[in-house]
Amino acid sequence: MTDAIRQLQKIVDDSDNIVFFGGAGVSTESGIPDFRSVDGLYNQKYDYPPETILSHTFFERHTKEFFDFYRDKMICPDAKPNAAHKKLAELEQAGKLRAVVTQNIDGLHTLAGSKTVYELHGSVHRNYCRKCRRFYPAEYILRSRGVPVCECGGVIKPDVVLYEESLDDNCIRGAVAAISSAEVLIVAGSSLTVYPAAGFLHYFRGEHLVLINRDATPYDGMATLVMHEKVGEVLSQIKVG
Ligand code: NAD
Repeated sequence: MTDAIRQLQKIVDDSDNIVFFGGAGVSTESGIPDFRSVDGLYNQKYDYPPETILSHTFFERHTKEFFDFYRDKMICPDAKPNAAHKKLAELEQAGKLRAVVTQNIDGLHTLAGSKTVYELHGSVHRNYCRKCRRFYPAEYILRSRGVPVCECGGVIKPDVVLYEESLDDNCIRGAVAAISSAEVLIVAGSSLTVYPAAGFLHYFRGEHLVLINRDATPYDGMATLVMHEKVGEVLSQIKVG
């Protein structure tokens, strides 16, 4: 066990008010690529950059191309929760972790058993008809061809926050309340460059900010403990109770 793991174990042992804030790096160990790593989606070649495809304007103007990318890259039906998702669910169950705030849209925290999850950017598992508001699961989108439509004829849109769209107010309120009252904030798997999500860290007033990220982030200097390692590998070594 390294010194850093020992330090993290003590921080976890001493608190029952931990909040976790995560990004795409939390799910890379489940086989879902992130955006900015060398093997991430931004370094793969498409006709348009991913930021363009995942924007509101692109959805409105090139709906079919949007769904080709969305089906191919954003819905990962075979991905399973990894050691990080599972440990966080266990910490919540043990009464130590109050909430997970995630930028991810893959639904893996909920699948792992976490109950209080703020999905800042929505979820691929919720897709709604723009006309009648009926909801459809990800499987419906995967089975459809071209632009998916509802039984009423309306176009279906993912309940995912696209670039140029704003975050959901209730979700923001819940996430800010959890972070601003937390004693420990564990931040992992995020380049902390996507706003407004990354700005949520500024609400933290607690004692320990722990950063677990493979690459350096602009917030490393603010943290009590920084680990440039894989989050699943780190959290799997933490003992609960
Ligand atoms: P990002 O791609 O900008 O950064 C990911 C960070 O995670 C990198 O700094 C990388 O070093 C780190 N990382 C990768 N694997 C790691 C691991 N196993 N352990 C620790 N660190 C690891 O991701 P972001 O900051 O979350 O921003 C990208 C946006 O795209 C977010 O909105 C995100 O939700 C969305 N996105 C979501 C998914 C998903 O739902 N799984 C996947 C790709 C992108």
